Amino acid sequence: MSRLVVVSNRVALMEEGKQAAGGLAVAILAALKKTGGIWFGWSGKVVDGESQAEPTRTDAGKLTYATLDLGRRDHEEYYNGFANQTLWPLFHYRLGLISVNRRTREGYERVNAYFADKLEPLLRTDDMIWVHDYHLIPFGDELRRRGCSQRMGFFLHTPFPPPELLTALPNHRDLIRELCAYDLVGFHTATDLRGFCDYIRTETDGTVEQRGAYGSAMIRAFGRTLMAKVFPISIDTEALESLARTAGRSRQAERLRESLVGRRLIIGVDRLDYSKGLPQRFAAFEQLLESYPEHCNRVSFLQVAPPSREDVPEYIAIRRELSEMAGRINGRFAEFDWQPIRYLNRSFGQRVLAGFYRLANVGLVTPLRDGMNLVAKEYVACQDGDNPGVLVLSQFAGAAHEMGEALIVNPFDIEGVGDALQRALTMPLGERKERHAALMRTLRRQDIGWWRESYVDALTRAPYDFPVT
Ligand code: UDP
Repeated sequence: MSRLVVVSNRVALMEEGKQAAGGLAVAILAALKKTGGIWFGWSGKVVDGESQAEPTRTDAGKLTYATLDLGRRDHEEYYNGFANQTLWPLFHYRLGLISVNRRTREGYERVNAYFADKLEPLLRTDDMIWVHDYHLIPFGDELRRRGCSQRMGFFLHTPFPPPELLTALPNHRDLIRELCAYDLVGFHTATDLRGFCDYIRTETDGTVEQRGAYGSAMIRAFGRTLMAKVFPISIDTEALESLARTAGRSRQAERLRESLVGRRLIIGVDRLDYSKGLPQRFAAFEQLLESYPEHCNRVSFLQVAPPSREDVPEYIAIRRELSEMAGRINGRFAEFDWQPIRYLNRSFGQRVLAGFYRLANVGLVTPLRDGMNLVAKEYVACQDGDNPGVLVLSQFAGAAHEMGEALIVNPFDIEGVGDALQRALTMPLGERKERHAALMRTLRRQDIGWWRESYVDALTRAPYDFPVT
């Protein structure tokens, strides 16, 4: 069996016996433990001066973690700069927020080349390499330049925009040429796959041959042949279901329940990011209280929003905007014994969140654009099937492609989301149960194990022997 080598911007280094942070980390670890292998990437540490000369290796059984500290300049240009101020807004369809400059683009290419330099000596000829996310698009091409002919796959965890948006990036062709150095490129949804195929058709001399009901295409471009395919990421459904059964009785969940004194609960859980549609969401909750005043003093909205990427100016701006909105809406509607919005700039662990989800009558997930959105899936998996809450979900979250039984909303339509909240809060038990059962059928069939196995299985079969068309 080939070893698996996983490359991601951040490596979730686990202390022996400790539970991994997120579903993705758990899934990757499970795959790595099966085949043995390496998990390679940035350590998360920023150091003065140059980036670390040689990776720090930590062995854990058949698995080796190899991590590198980044120098301040590399971190600024590669991570804060091109990855998070150019690619992130571009891939989330926000051209108005992209910053474009040659310095950060060069930094991005330089750090990818440096990562490739450091991984290459650790590779064996029959390794299978799986690279994750927008930080590392050029990584495979850098390895190829160093003579690596191993099977290489890439998975994009963000959306992939249509070519009309992507072409706003100077030298966009170079980025897509780099993406075509992989044998397999995975996306969350058919929309993302279509964006990529449309780019190949309209901006290159390449060809696209669409395949299969679930969405895959064979691409010939830039002198290479690769497969592009849809693999919607998911959660560990079974583990979360069983966690939620007891988490509802945890101390924190009890405290939350007591604090509600019989009121209904709407919950939102998101990194504080402009892609999550939080100002529109706050406005929609305000709209609910305005249009359906019977909910005043009867419903609380808990928004958990841990800050992220705090060095990037747009994140400072959205944080300020949300604090102002929460203060204004609370000032307008609060009673001496009721605060409409509980807005928290901090994070919680999975167990506490599972208890909160279980208590909440409505899960409100309204990104303006999102690769998948795991919170939508987690909320559903944590419900009590005999009395489930209702998921209100943006049509622009990747999750909406598989979760049609949620109340699907347009997050830009504030009044529409306000009405969906009203519908969710008044939905009869029978309908809630039916929708929940249908959502759970998909979540049980297509869980994180299914995602990982489908991807690794497809990569194992590379390079693909395509019939000539
Ligand atoms: N999350 C968490 N604690 C928090 C907030 C979020 O553990 O306080 C987790 C959440 O449960 C989910 C992940 O962070 O698993 C967020 O993933 P998602 O796909 O929803 O959004 P992303 O942050 O990747 O854009």
